[in-house]
Amino acid sequence: MNSFVFKTDELKKSGGFKGSLKADVKEFTNTFIRGKLKEIFVSFSISIGDNTFFIEGEIKATAFFECSRCLKEIELTLVDYFEDTIESLAEEIDIKPIIKETLSMMEPLRTVCKSKCDETLLDKYAQAEKKQKESPFSILKKEIKKEK
Ligand SMILES: [Zn+2]
Repeated sequence: MNSFVFKTDELKKSGGFKGSLKADVKEFTNTFIRGKLKEIFVSFSISIGDNTFFIEGEIKATAFFECSRCLKEIELTLVDYFEDTIESLAEEIDIKPIIKETLSMMEPLRTVCKSKCDETLLDKYAQAEKKQKESPFSILKKEIKKEK
């Protein structure tokens, strides 16, 4: 059962929702591109208007990442807030897409195990990456030369 689906008539009867839920990480597989999710907690409230549901809350996610410098595995806890309004006449509202979208924006671009992690490793890594990026163009140049 998806714990982030709410029956709208029940919400209206109870005057909304306020609480914390632990999300099933399996439902959010692939939300992070580089990280592997370990735990997700969502504290949120749903307020009710005329066929509108105002949702606001906080996501606390723990995930494993690779250090961008030394490639060591690190565990990070990320926190972010979200709010959204759903206009719906449907029997149910699902707030999982909102959580998924927020989560996907929470993923850090670069993760470092400690502030003084070997920076020479980073430089080596950056140079290797640069070389890789240049190669398709050099191949392209060769192709162009061949055509002439
Ligand atoms: Zn590191």
